Amino acid sequence: MTPNPAYLNNVPSPCYVCEEALLEKNLLTLDRVQRESGAKILLALKGFAMWSTFDVVGKYLHGTAASGLHEALLGRETMNKEVHTYSPAFKAEELDEIARISDHLVFNSTGQFKRFATQAKAANPKISLGIRVNPEVSSAPTDIYNPCGLFSRLGTVVTEFDESVIGEGVDGLHFHALCEQNVDALEAVLVGFEAKFGHIIDQMKWVNFGGGHHITRVDYDVEGLIRVIKAFRARHNDIPVYLEPGEAVGWQTGPLVATVLDVIKNGMELAILDTSAEAHMPDTLAMPYRAMIRNSGEAGEKKYTYRLGGNTCLAGDIIGDYSFDAPLQPGDRLVFEDQIHYTFVKNTTFNGIKLPSLAIYRKEGGLQVVKNFGYSDFRNRLS
Ligand SMILES: *Cc1c(COP(=O)(O)O)cnc(C)c1O
Repeated sequence: MTPNPAYLNNVPSPCYVCEEALLEKNLLTLDRVQRESGAKILLALKGFAMWSTFDVVGKYLHGTAASGLHEALLGRETMNKEVHTYSPAFKAEELDEIARISDHLVFNSTGQFKRFATQAKAANPKISLGIRVNPEVSSAPTDIYNPCGLFSRLGTVVTEFDESVIGEGVDGLHFHALCEQNVDALEAVLVGFEAKFGHIIDQMKWVNFGGGHHITRVDYDVEGLIRVIKAFRARHNDIPVYLEPGEAVGWQTGPLVATVLDVIKNGMELAILDTSAEAHMPDTLAMPYRAMIRNSGEAGEKKYTYRLGGNTCLAGDIIGDYSFDAPLQPGDRLVFEDQIHYTFVKNTTFNGIKLPSLAIYRKEGGLQVVKNFGYSDFRNRLS
């Protein structure tokens, strides 16, 4: 059993710890894609928004992809490079502010484009406007993460695409059809995209391939992606291409550290932690997937098996069954691997449970706890 590095015993508990060296490793891979394919890569804030790391992220990526006013503000304030904002539907009262701070604005429907294009241009004459289309090809692994599933509201299908918008200032097309996928899935989406929208691509100034590209995963075909982007650009007069991954930026960049609070029995050994699947690791319930714990095994694999549960009153707040070489004791620290993407961006204070602290383990300077949360974070969201 490898002991935890000392800093994992020194962080507050619970705490997410983003390791700068691992983040930079991902960014170097993404930068290679940028340099060799000519594509520009944005960070999708939806998946990873630890802005204290944006000094590093902004060194490599071209900016941020926002899903609405608040993410756009965050991207503008904290990275201040390009801000591309897409929302399933914009609200009239927010549009001026969003347009002023965005470089690209992507509408989900030609109807929203027609309603808001003039207002957006008036607020920011330099803004570039696009439409999200639905290529109607997707192999996303699970329905809740399939943007091209049956009756999807995300993006305009070709039969609903009102081509009169092209003469009215549409500069770009956007699609987002993938989730944790490799290049073969992108190639299939591009076949659909070009079959349906190929006749208008060459009237555009840019195309955005969305996110869901799992570029930094060890088995991802980075050369293949570079080849696919270059071939697409070659077919379309060298058109600028954007990618906006979230998960691939934060992928395997650090753990969530939690502490065992109690060990009890009811038919099996149960351990209660100071974290929560429901509040702090929501995709373990929504995707669902099993979070890895350092130095643990499947139930029964090692000598001592426990069902790990969260410190909320929700019966289903269960992280899963894990086994360990030694019995768990109150005070033991557990290290949940790869908990930096789609975790703290989704956290809740359900049941009044404390939000985990946020920390960065810097390449130089070591541990930096950048945020602790407390009672006021719970109270201020209620009234
Ligand atoms: C979620 C999302 C992304 C990022 O997806 P990842 O799977 O995190 O790479 C990018 N663009 C849009 C429009 C999204 O909805």
